[in-house]
Amino acid sequence: MNGKTVMACIDAAYASLKEHTDEIALLDQQIGDGDHIFNLLRGMEALLAVRSDIEGAAFGPALEIAASKVLSTVGGSSGPLFYSLLSGMSKASERHAPDTAGFAHVFAAGVEAVGQRGKTGVGSKTMMDVLIPVAKRFDELAAQGATAEEVRDALPRVAEENMLATRDMLATKGRASFLGERSRGHIDPGARSSQIMIASVCARLALHNE
Ligand code: ADP
Ligand code: MG
Repeated sequence: MNGKTVMACIDAAYASLKEHTDEIALLDQQIGDGDHIFNLLRGMEALLAVRSDIEGAAFGPALEIAASKVLSTVGGSSGPLFYSLLSGMSKASERHAPDTAGFAHVFAAGVEAVGQRGKTGVGSKTMMDVLIPVAKRFDELAAQGATAEEVRDALPRVAEENMLATRDMLATKGRASFLGERSRGHIDPGARSSQIMIASVCARLALHNE
C-alpha cells in the first residue's frame, strides 16, 4: 500500500461514481437537495488533478493530501465527513502495520472520525449505516485471520446489504431529517455513494492482488 495504490483506488471509485451519477443525483433529489454526487465528483476531479503528488507520497501522507483536497472541494455535509474518513485513516496508518489486520484498524479509525464529526452512529439513515457495519465486519474478519481476498469478497456484500437497509429507515440526521416520515422509502445517497466506493476499491485491489 502506497500513494500509487491510493490513487488507483481513487480512479476506481471515480469511474464507478461517474457511472452512477444519475441514480445518486435522483436519490439526493428525493430526500436532499440533489448535490451529493456533484459534490463528490468535484472532489474526485480535484484529486485526479494532484495525481503526481498522491502517487509520489507514502500511504499515510497520500491519504492526508487527498483528505485536505476533499475538504476544500467537496462541500455540503459530506465534504467534512469524507475528509474525516481519509484524515482519520491517515493518522491511524502511522500506528498500524500495513497488513490486513492493520488496515482493518486504519479503516475503523477513519469511520470513528466520521462518527465524531457527524455525531451519529447506525440507524440515522446516513453513510454511517454502511461505514460502521463494514468496519465492524472488517475487524471481525481480521481477528479471525482472514486473507485479503476473503476481506475483499465479504465487504462489498456487507456494504450492499446495509445500503439497501437505509431505504426503510427514518432519517434523523442531515437534510433528509427535515422530511420526517417522508424520508422513508428512499435509499440514502451517502450510503449508496459509500457502498459504491467500497465495492469499486475492493474490486480494484482484487484485480492487482493488493
Ligand atoms: P448536504 O446534505 O449538505 O447537501 P451532501 O448532499 O453532500 O450534503 O451529502 C448528503 C449525505 O451526507 C447524506 O446522504 C448522508 O449520508 C450524509 N450525512 C449527512 N449528515 C450526516 C451526519 N451527521 N453523519 C454522517 N453522514 C451524514
Ligand atoms: Mg445534498
